[in-house]
Amino acid sequence: MRLKDKVAIITGAGRGIGEATAKKFASEGAKVVVADLNHEDVDQTVTAIKELGGEAIGTLVNVTKRADVKALMERTIAIYGSVDVVVNNAGITADAQLLKMTDEQWDQVIDVNLKGVFTVSQEAATVMKEQNSGVILNASSIVGSFGNFGQTNYAATKWGVNGMTKTWAKELGRYNIRVNAVAPGFILTPMTEKMPEKVLNIMKEKSVLNDLGSPEDIANGYAFLASDEARFITGTILSIDGGVVI
Ligand code: NAP
Repeated sequence: MRLKDKVAIITGAGRGIGEATAKKFASEGAKVVVADLNHEDVDQTVTAIKELGGEAIGTLVNVTKRADVKALMERTIAIYGSVDVVVNNAGITADAQLLKMTDEQWDQVIDVNLKGVFTVSQEAATVMKEQNSGVILNASSIVGSFGNFGQTNYAATKWGVNGMTKTWAKELGRYNIRVNAVAPGFILTPMTEKMPEKVLNIMKEKSVLNDLGSPEDIANGYAFLASDEARFITGTILSIDGGVVI
């Protein structure tokens, strides 16, 4: 068990990649804090982990709200005693081409994907500095290095996540805190199910493996980066994209 007794907060863990990551971490022995907006989704992930014999609690959190995030850290420490790993997985899309994108679409995506990651990481790093240990993992995307039609706002946030990852690795290494990101390609989740089938087929064909990824493919990457096997890895962006971009 690679994550035995590590306390891991995973945002957006009610479904999709976050849910798969929560289950993977629990199967590797972590005590998982399932943090998400929706009560039913949180309960469902916690129940699934417990049915598999894992350890988890659920917490309702909006990552854009400082008070929610502070409460998340306090509750985690009150129940489990530390914050060893944070996976900043919560993220949204609100797609439109540049000439049609509204201020609301821009603000929504910046708020969750950029400010949410900043807020959670700042509060987590404060705890981790005191512990003199910790791992912060951020959800990037291939879109954060290559852009994508109709995703001005999303590309800006994922580019920003890459920049924050490298900056925090430089700032927090002295406190024995590692910071890395995972950049998924196109993964079948509720987020991508909204995309037209034509686009998904194009993405599949672009993969040199001729496939789309599963949430578990990404969860495996997070589990490795969270584990002590990755003790010398920081400031990196791990592509898990089936070779879409080589
Ligand atoms: P998803 O299925 O849409 O799940 C995202 C989860 O985050 C949902 O449970 C959502 O809650 C939650 N969430 C949204 N806003 C939140 C907030 N303000 N506070 C707390 N939780 C919030 O997404 P996914 O496809 O699994 O993607 C997960 C991450 O991977 C995202 O950061 C995404 O950008 C990144 N990613 C995904 C892909 C892909 O192909 N799927 C590719 C590259 C990167 P609600 O359901 O209640 O809204």
